Amino acid sequence: MNIKPVAIALADALFPRRCPVCGELPEEGRRICKHCFCRLDFVKEPCCMICGRTVFNETVRLCAECEARPHSFERGCALLCYDDVMRKMVADIKYKNKRSYLEPMGALLCLRYGEQIRAMEADCLIPVPLHPRKFRSRGFNQAELLAREIGRHTAIPVCTDLLLRVRKTEAQKALGAEERIRNLEAAFAVKEREEMPRTAIIVDDIYTTGSTMEACARVLKGAGISRIFFLSLCIVPGF
Ligand SMILES: [Zn+2]
Ligand SMILES: [Zn+2]
Repeated sequence: MNIKPVAIALADALFPRRCPVCGELPEEGRRICKHCFCRLDFVKEPCCMICGRTVFNETVRLCAECEARPHSFERGCALLCYDDVMRKMVADIKYKNKRSYLEPMGALLCLRYGEQIRAMEADCLIPVPLHPRKFRSRGFNQAELLAREIGRHTAIPVCTDLLLRVRKTEAQKALGAEERIRNLEAAFAVKEREEMPRTAIIVDDIYTTGSTMEACARVLKGAGISRIFFLSLCIVPGF
């Protein structure tokens, strides 16, 4: 008896690979239903040279947000626009423990940006950390799992013990952009080691204003990492 098909059938029965968009079983051989795939709003060109979000005119090199303030990271890529489809998917991943959804999404991200990722020549992938208390209550860090998927496809090691979240962040809607970054910066710390990586890619699930990414980049740069890039599953459009 050939054991392999049995093992696969068993694994499928135990952990059926559900479509990350609708949660149903997709057509055979697919990880995302055909119909659901069409609902994914991939980031389209032309893109901002720094944050990678869609800009509305080919002559514009930077989005308004990147134009308004400089970043400590060089540039980054996001796979999808953060719309209702992605809002639901990210909520399912985080709050309904649908971590398996990150598998096809990580694969898509690498398929789309493999060349750009290689060009970054990064020594490691650094997921945006969760506060330990949040990590314990959720049981996993979605940014870390996404980084592991990216690492699996690109062979770039994932580093989770360098950037730490040492403080919980308070609600900070009322703060201005710079204040918000400063506030966030204090939430992160680097556990320095003898040999620091030279180039790193920060990985997160959502890029909104870029404050979190900027805070992490500043802290890492302060610790001696000279080049920082980022990868994000989705990005809020229209800045
Ligand atoms: Zn589906
Ligand atoms: Zn931008």
